Amino acid sequence: MSGQQRSLFDADPEPWEADDQAEQLVAGIVLATGPGQEFDYLVPDALRDLVEPGRRVLVPLGKGNRQVQGYCVRVESRRAGPRPLKSLADVVDRRSLLSPAMLRLTHWIADYYLCPWGQVLETVLPAGVRGQAGTRMATLLTLDPRGAKLLTAGDLPDKHREILLVLAAAPEPLTPQELARHARCSPSPIATLRRKGLIRSQTARVSAVRQAEVALPREEHLVLNPDQQQALDAVLAALRSQQHRTFLIHGVTGSGKTEVYIQAIKEVVRYGRQAIVLVPEISLTPQTVERFRRRFGAVAVLHSHMSDSDRHWHWQQIAEGRVSVVVGARSAVFAPTPHLGLIILDEEHESTFKQETAPRYHAREVAVARAAAENVPLLLGSATPSLESWNRASLGQYQLIEMPRRVLNRPLPEVGTIDLRTDGQRGNRGSISRLLYQAMQAALQDDGQIILLLNRRGYSTHIQCPACGEVVRCPDCDIALTHHKTGDLALCHLCDYRTSPPTSCPACHSGEIRYWGMGTQKLEAEVRARFPNAPLLRMDADTMRTRGAHEKTLCEFREGKARILLGTQMIAKGHDFPNVTLVGVIQADTALHLPDFRAAERTFHLVTQVAGRTGRGNRGGRVLVQTFSPDHPAIRAAVKHDYAAFAAEELPLRELLHYPPFAAMIRLVVRGESEAAAKEFAQRLGQNVSTALEARQANARVLGPAPAPTPRIRGKYRFQIQIQGPDGDKLRAAVHEAQSQSQAPAEVEWIIDVDPINML
Ligand code: ADP
Ligand code: ZN
Ligand code: ZN
Repeated sequence: MSGQQRSLFDADPEPWEADDQAEQLVAGIVLATGPGQEFDYLVPDALRDLVEPGRRVLVPLGKGNRQVQGYCVRVESRRAGPRPLKSLADVVDRRSLLSPAMLRLTHWIADYYLCPWGQVLETVLPAGVRGQAGTRMATLLTLDPRGAKLLTAGDLPDKHREILLVLAAAPEPLTPQELARHARCSPSPIATLRRKGLIRSQTARVSAVRQAEVALPREEHLVLNPDQQQALDAVLAALRSQQHRTFLIHGVTGSGKTEVYIQAIKEVVRYGRQAIVLVPEISLTPQTVERFRRRFGAVAVLHSHMSDSDRHWHWQQIAEGRVSVVVGARSAVFAPTPHLGLIILDEEHESTFKQETAPRYHAREVAVARAAAENVPLLLGSATPSLESWNRASLGQYQLIEMPRRVLNRPLPEVGTIDLRTDGQRGNRGSISRLLYQAMQAALQDDGQIILLLNRRGYSTHIQCPACGEVVRCPDCDIALTHHKTGDLALCHLCDYRTSPPTSCPACHSGEIRYWGMGTQKLEAEVRARFPNAPLLRMDADTMRTRGAHEKTLCEFREGKARILLGTQMIAKGHDFPNVTLVGVIQADTALHLPDFRAAERTFHLVTQVAGRTGRGNRGGRVLVQTFSPDHPAIRAAVKHDYAAFAAEELPLRELLHYPPFAAMIRLVVRGESEAAAKEFAQRLGQNVSTALEARQANARVLGPAPAPTPRIRGKYRFQIQIQGPDGDKLRAAVHEAQSQSQAPAEVEWIIDVDPINML
């Protein structure tokens, strides 16, 4: 609004202001890279109509007035202050990329996770949207009025008539290639029609991906069983009252949770609103997406393996409100839906919802914040909820919905343990006990399929000299190298360092060097040797390197091309294989003794989830869990499918030790190539944090600085400081203060991880 307009139209009681006190238009700008605070810039007259919160701008910075990119987060009219402001140089976007609600959400993330606001903004907006990527110049064809006239009353060769008809029927202009494809013709008749002026052409910037919607046969909704109906009713009540509520659906594997999600979405779509469905990256298979497409037609998909232009195209479709359903991994929580109606987060216990690079946000927490801000319900679902969510449900912050039965009254599989300590089972040197071997034989004889879980890849998990005890380690990380048979390599699982496996001990030169431990490659060799006639597929990070390999393997297994599927935890996730009658867990305790307070919880999740892969058809199913710790509460509860029992055992321990969910936690990791410099800075940082915590009477506990459980990665020494306390806001404020006081030397870097998931 210009000053003159204001004097004409506003009933302003103030006398006409002198020029030097005139109101000026000021934009609050957050730089794309930088510390994250807002800077004020003057909006010059030429840019008044273009500037708007959510658009990117160019601003001069520093003495040299170097131009840098920033985000406009606020525009206000106010009286000129004593100091003159610099002016905006340009406005980059022609429309806002972020709604006011999304701007507030990004600000909340920056505050909560203690990271620069600009960094969050850059994360929320995919590269394809920020850059020019995702668009290209294209020729677009439309029907010329003369062509239209000839179509109704004219003489035309059949081929030409067909081409014009296709163009007349098209909902939007087509490129020459698209027209040729739809009219099933070569480019030449199209060129002829263009020359004759019957088809008009123009050049325009279009999205690089123009996706023809593949129409899938629509599927009708299923009739819900009483458990499902009761879950749906609870959600619908919240939807109708337009209230924010968080629901935690605790439904056993195969209880029909997805069907509840689908019918809740149906209601949302009916009111012209959009729904976001978040699933773990590994579950985001074409099959999952298809399940939603068959019910809703157009579904946008967002995940991390997309090209920039694909992502841009989907993002645009969502922003324009053209799709009602968005299915995606973690980052889809930022989908720019104009009228959000519902957020669903399936497998809410999955650690992949936490981003492990800055900003280190957890999609579940962001979803809670977004759903509350936009006043919509949030649906969390899992067969094995995180203890964080479970605890909030017992405090009444979330509404708990139980779905304790499988659909169609299918029983949960019977789970048995095999104690690896008892000698009778260890008659052989392999990893498959006699009982498991017999069960596998029986399953194969009955035409069933088998899943075997071993959560360690490679062939031998470590190489050690029995003479002197030397373990062959990565020169850059402090971990043992894993022997991989493929390519005959000794490999570091942290940094990918590879070398040829030694034949004698590098320390004492004894020729006795031995390969120990069992990875999926060795298990594969053993199974092939003992079941030579059973086709087998292996699924782990090594066999799944190529794009689409994951889906292809699952597909082949579902089609019965293999009888045995073995692999790491990626086989445990959400897949539906009706013909699997036996699941074997080769060693349930691989992760039980890691220095991580969630080790028991992870083990419980993994065993319960993989057990859920069987008994999903009408043939029943059986699970055998090999373990050295059959009496561990996590294993005992998993065997009985008893989540509540596990939670009841584990939660008091967490409370006693002041771990989440009973306390907030922030983890600081300091790393550097110089051990001394990293340690020295970690000590200073720890001191500053402790002082800031005491000043706030945060009643917190600071552990460390101490070497991290993985003390060196990629040649960098790592020290950690773990802060636990009852009041998360106080911890954040203290770390924030310490952050501004602690200048790390150039060769040392450090990170802040709020609510850490990775403790190694
Ligand atoms: P979950 O997500 O809890 O693991 P799903 O929703 O995938 O369970 O359901 C498991 C299987 O049961 C699917 O094949 C699904 O099509 C089927 N199913 C779900 N609900 C019903 C129902 N009400 N009637 C019949 N089959 C159902
Ligand atoms: Zn040796
Ligand atoms: Zn390494």
